[in-house]
Amino acid sequence: MEEILYKSTRGGENNIPASLAIIKGIADDGGLFVPNAIPKVNIDLDELVNMNYKEVAYFVMSKFLCDFTEEELKECIEKAYDDKFDTVEIAPVKRVGDKYFLELFHGPTLAFKDMALSILPYLLTISARKQSIDKEIIILTATSGDTGKAALEGFANVKDTKIIVFFPKEGVSPVQKKQMITHKGDNTFVIGIKGNFDDAQSGVKEIFRDDEFMRKLDEKRYMFSSANSINIGRLIPQIVYYFYAYIKLYKMKEVTEEEKINVVVPTGNFGNILAAYYAKQMGLPIEKLICASNDNKVLYEFLNTGIYDKLREFVTTISPSMDILISSNLERLLYGIGNENPNKVRELMNNLDINGSYGISEDMKKRLNDFYGNFASEIETKEAIKSVFNKYRYIMDTHTAVAYCVGKKYEEDTKDENKTLIVATASPYKFTHSVMSSIDNKYDKFDDFSLIREVGKLLGENPPVSMTYLQDADTIHTTVCRKDEMKKVIKQILNI
Ligand SMILES: *Cc1c(COP(=O)(O)O)cnc(C)c1O
Repeated sequence: MEEILYKSTRGGENNIPASLAIIKGIADDGGLFVPNAIPKVNIDLDELVNMNYKEVAYFVMSKFLCDFTEEELKECIEKAYDDKFDTVEIAPVKRVGDKYFLELFHGPTLAFKDMALSILPYLLTISARKQSIDKEIIILTATSGDTGKAALEGFANVKDTKIIVFFPKEGVSPVQKKQMITHKGDNTFVIGIKGNFDDAQSGVKEIFRDDEFMRKLDEKRYMFSSANSINIGRLIPQIVYYFYAYIKLYKMKEVTEEEKINVVVPTGNFGNILAAYYAKQMGLPIEKLICASNDNKVLYEFLNTGIYDKLREFVTTISPSMDILISSNLERLLYGIGNENPNKVRELMNNLDINGSYGISEDMKKRLNDFYGNFASEIETKEAIKSVFNKYRYIMDTHTAVAYCVGKKYEEDTKDENKTLIVATASPYKFTHSVMSSIDNKYDKFDDFSLIREVGKLLGENPPVSMTYLQDADTIHTTVCRKDEMKKVIKQILNI
């Protein structure tokens, strides 16, 4: 097997090993690291069907992380996918009516970010050892709600690291906020931003590109890395569950060998669906990649018109983890559909910075054919939660419900009869108010925390302890700042 190396989408760095790409998080030229080829795999279902999640993880990740030894990678996988997850399946597939839900919310923070963030700290510490880094690694992360907690969970008390999380103070759900500001661990720092997710994310990106600040950190023996999905160390673990799901469908006798499926992904930063795209390029029989947006429907418009335009009102929705107008990982797709031309990517990204928009060529547009994009309004989302619950007693969270609605629109639009896998990215326990008031307006007057038990009642189970414990948990992190103060706050934390 050829060795996969990594390069920047903006052309500044080439042929660097996976471990270095993971440590850096983002390239020096502001670009994102991409593999120099997508490894093709032979999908022998009769062999794969006997693999558990960890074995599938090794099968997939070893193709990309070529400078990790078998022992190193297996150690990371063992430590990540253990009893932090509430099921040994790690990512169960459930049939509900004629749909299949890939449940990615069985990790410690009840959202799909755990799938990658429970392994990233181990990948990162081994990478640092490989690259003989003797500095303390500072994980700098912007979150739309779920990444923050999952990264805190993953990095808390990991030796020689600190983690700093910036979240939009008014832009996350009450449960998400509480999960973060009550988080323990001496090396964890959580800061509310007066602004939205895009402010937090662009603030973090600017800091990464501040050469002078980077030099200063270097002198003090610190180095920054990112736990956002711009880090290839997050993207690669996300490819795994698409393989696992397909194998599971085969095992359940829901698909036959090589039968194509469609995948619907509730999308924000375009990381999860990009992982599905990579899975398809590796050879997994995926027909359409269905990109589901909420009312912040930039991606829907981009996929349909070839024009990306972030200049619009930012809408706060009941699916806050998808309230994003600048989908970072799209840069990786642009690189792929633009014949891997870094000049093109730089031009488009410059247009986005300067004019707030860009348009792609007809040639590039044709290569978006693997994708279908649509969106669900707030009302459609709520109605879907209600009708699926009434019909099947299955409770979708708001993000999953957006995907469900868009999956339906795709079927109506195209009459495509392939089976559909809906990616369920969060547990209903995480967004209880929106979920329960969709099911019955008698829940309108209750807050998120008191509804945790009610969700449990409807499902006939005990709510996860990580949720019931939250209500009375003590607030530990109280810092709030403006976007232009982020650097100052970091300096204070690091004492520089
Ligand atoms: C982060 C998140 C998303 C969006 O995923 P991207 O990889 O950013 O596109 C969707 N749903 C939930 C619950 C999330 O936490």
